[in-house]
Amino acid sequence: MPTRSKRAVLEEARAFLDAARQARVAGDHRLGVDQATRALALAEAAGQQGLKAAALSVLALNEFRLSDSETAIKHCQQALPLLKRARDAAERTQVLCTLVLAHNDMGLYSDALVYATQAIESAKLANDPSLMSWALNRAGLTYEELGDPSRGEPLMLQALEIAREINGGEEMFSALNNLCSNLLHVAKSQAAELQRATLLRALQYGTEALVLADASGNGHRQAVCLGNLANAHTGLGSYEDALGCIERQDALARGNGYRGMLLTAVTNRAELERHRGDLTAAITLYSKALDQAHDTDDHAMLFEMHQGLYQSYKQLGDLANALKHHEAMLPLEREEMKQRADRQARLLLNRIEMENAQAAAERARLDAQVQRLRAAQLESENQLLATKALELGKHAMEDQLTGLANRRRVDHELPAQLAVARERHAALSLAAVDLDHFKQVNDRFGHAVGDDVLKAIARLLTENTRSTDLLARMGGEEFIVLFVGTPLPVAADICERLRQAVQAYDWGGVATGLRVTISVGLCDAMEGTDVRQLLERADASLYAAKRAGRNRVEVAA
Ligand code: GH3
Ligand code: MG
Ligand code: MG
Repeated sequence: MPTRSKRAVLEEARAFLDAARQARVAGDHRLGVDQATRALALAEAAGQQGLKAAALSVLALNEFRLSDSETAIKHCQQALPLLKRARDAAERTQVLCTLVLAHNDMGLYSDALVYATQAIESAKLANDPSLMSWALNRAGLTYEELGDPSRGEPLMLQALEIAREINGGEEMFSALNNLCSNLLHVAKSQAAELQRATLLRALQYGTEALVLADASGNGHRQAVCLGNLANAHTGLGSYEDALGCIERQDALARGNGYRGMLLTAVTNRAELERHRGDLTAAITLYSKALDQAHDTDDHAMLFEMHQGLYQSYKQLGDLANALKHHEAMLPLEREEMKQRADRQARLLLNRIEMENAQAAAERARLDAQVQRLRAAQLESENQLLATKALELGKHAMEDQLTGLANRRRVDHELPAQLAVARERHAALSLAAVDLDHFKQVNDRFGHAVGDDVLKAIARLLTENTRSTDLLARMGGEEFIVLFVGTPLPVAADICERLRQAVQAYDWGGVATGLRVTISVGLCDAMEGTDVRQLLERADASLYAAKRAGRNRVEVAA
């Protein structure tokens, strides 16, 4: 991806991310999911890990608000490995907080508690009071969900204190609303004389929360808060106030299409009627809620409705119906437990799959690294071999003693030279050179002197020919000279000069009394076709020179 277009993609991704965040704040979670999904795709395309994590985080939060806790958890789990503990502590805290909410929603409270603890640690690392307020709030909520609301309260109070210090509207609302709900929970298990004080405190927090919810204009917050207030008023016996809250809650649920909230409003209303003793009205409302909830799998809500009906019938003395609803409560509880176990298993499976995918990616990365190293090693080994082959090739084509070409090189090169000369109609002459009575040189002066003689001859050959000519030691004391581009008479002159140069050489400097001469057989290389025949013709001339008394040049007719 070119830099400019990548920058444009990132800008677009950030715009979607902002829109997703705004949609969440405004309570439009469907839009939030849509915008966050777009941001995620673009961040992935641009390979921007930080942006990807941020998109996953806001996506998950919107999904959780739409009651898709399982998907929210999946996306949080994808975000976490992309976030560094210290550097991304803020984003990490948010993701951990969403994990707490989603696990609580799924009834997986002990997992939620683990994430809540991590969220508090992470908020500390981030040194961000707003995040700390949220983390404490979520931890408190988890205790409430665990059935231990009294341990939740001090955490929520801390969250509220921090929220007030930073004057964070959202943080304050959430802490107040949760304190209200938490105290309603506490009141349920309290004796009547303690209950009233608890409910009054719940009412106080709830009322303050509603002011903030109204100010924010977030319909969902208002509706949730009104539901809590209704319960507090009902418990305190202020039925008119409770009814007012329920009616507002109902209107908000209708207006915004909060289906679950609509049922909550009906149940709250039924609870109010039961509480003030209008059991027939309570039964009618509970039955209505149950009818509307027939396709929901929210077992907690169904349980609450059957429980309300059971209590109402019991109070009414209709024991048969009371029993019927009591019996309906049992399988709901069992089904809820079963589903919770299933969800737990599914989440565990997701986590294992993700860990496997991460392990596979890591393995692939390591494999690639190993292959790169192996390739580099092979490359250097190849280079070594190539160098060796080059040296070997050179040696294979070179005579060790004189440094001239050897027989192999001649076998290799002579046919090619012949072909080129033929194609260009160029001259080519071949001389076979042999030392005279060389055996006697060895015999009289020793093999070492013989070698020195061979080397000196090689030098003389080199000095008296051109660099384009091919000089070779064919074996023993026999040499050839291929005169490239040289007609036979010219080559004959060169050979004669060479013969004289050898004869005139200061052999006494090599060994006292040493004398060396050569015989040369010369032929026109353009006559005849084949290499072997050519060498034989040069040899034939050489023998003619030997027969004629040595130290002479014989040119083939
Ligand atoms: P002619 O004039 O007929 O060529 O007689 P010659 O003695 O030169 O010929 P012959 O072929 O009988 O002997 C060649 C000698 O060359 C035999 C061997 O001792 C000697 N010779 C061959 N290769 C080497 C070598 O590498 N070093 C030395 N010092 N001598 C060699
Ligand atoms: Mg000889
Ligand atoms: Mg010989």
